[in-house]
Amino acid sequence: MQSQSKESLDNFKQLDNPSDLKFEYVPCYQCGTDDFTPLLVGQDDLTGKTGNFRYVTCNNCQFVYLNPRVHSDNIKIFYDDDYIAHDRRSKGKLRDWGFKRGIAQHDKMKDKIVTRHKKIDSNSHILDVGCAIGTYLLHMHHKYGTKVSGVDFKDLSNYPEAAPINSYLGFFYDQDFKGQKFDVITMWHFLEHCYQPKKSLATARELLKDDGHLVIEVPRLDCLTYPLQGKRWPGVQAPQHLTIFDKKHFLNMVQDSGFEIVEYLPWGAFPPLFYLYFGFLFLFNKGRGIILENHFWGYAIFTALFWPLDMLHRWLNLSMQTVILKKKTT
Ligand SMILES: [Zn+2]
Repeated sequence: MQSQSKESLDNFKQLDNPSDLKFEYVPCYQCGTDDFTPLLVGQDDLTGKTGNFRYVTCNNCQFVYLNPRVHSDNIKIFYDDDYIAHDRRSKGKLRDWGFKRGIAQHDKMKDKIVTRHKKIDSNSHILDVGCAIGTYLLHMHHKYGTKVSGVDFKDLSNYPEAAPINSYLGFFYDQDFKGQKFDVITMWHFLEHCYQPKKSLATARELLKDDGHLVIEVPRLDCLTYPLQGKRWPGVQAPQHLTIFDKKHFLNMVQDSGFEIVEYLPWGAFPPLFYLYFGFLFLFNKGRGIILENHFWGYAIFTALFWPLDMLHRWLNLSMQTVILKKKTT
């Protein structure tokens, strides 16, 4: 009998993808099973790059992931300067102010989540995995005097304002931290991009002090907005998101990796209306991509109209989830 994987592989060949794009098959990140059912085909709605990217559900444990995934040698083209977390070019005075204010609010929310259960002061050391250009680390450094380190594929040496950050370039699990241990490790929208999430979690466990906290935010598949927007839901973000966690699989993976839960939040630091607005825009655009700077006013008006959703987002399960973890003691 032909396996489900073989059948899906043939189906996948029918999807129209650029011939120079390298794909690789991957077993389930959670249970290692190579048996799946296709779930949806996503496109790069953010930048409009060509490609059809298939997400599957594991037939053994129902984990949702990109399969085949874009080979790690090729994924860099999907993280060019149009990518939102790295995009800081000037957009005019008012827009610059708006973007800066948005980023500052986002960083303050991260601060509030981190300090819910952990006192941060000048003796603390924070490591941010997937730190982009490090605005959150700089916020923490300037506010608390804390030591800050960050890992990303973005080279921070071109950003003089990022000088207080000890920056590490490349894969998190390949870095040499020279025996340093951290009070707080944060992963804000990192884990769903990671090629080896369990290896990253194991690395974080090794690097965390015994009383340290690991804070992880990812999009939540079993939320209110995914059924409304389907394959255009921004939490899909093909092909950058390799995994899409619902609450159950998210908590299973972190607990299997030697952590216990301090607190689970059905929300995050990420602005809740952002996904809602851009998800509807992606539905309208049908994979043509967007130019973020053109949506400053649209998004501003949307947030002004739907502010009650913003006020209630902690209770509505709109799109995000965050978990605060400590090392499991056995
Ligand atoms: Zn599985």
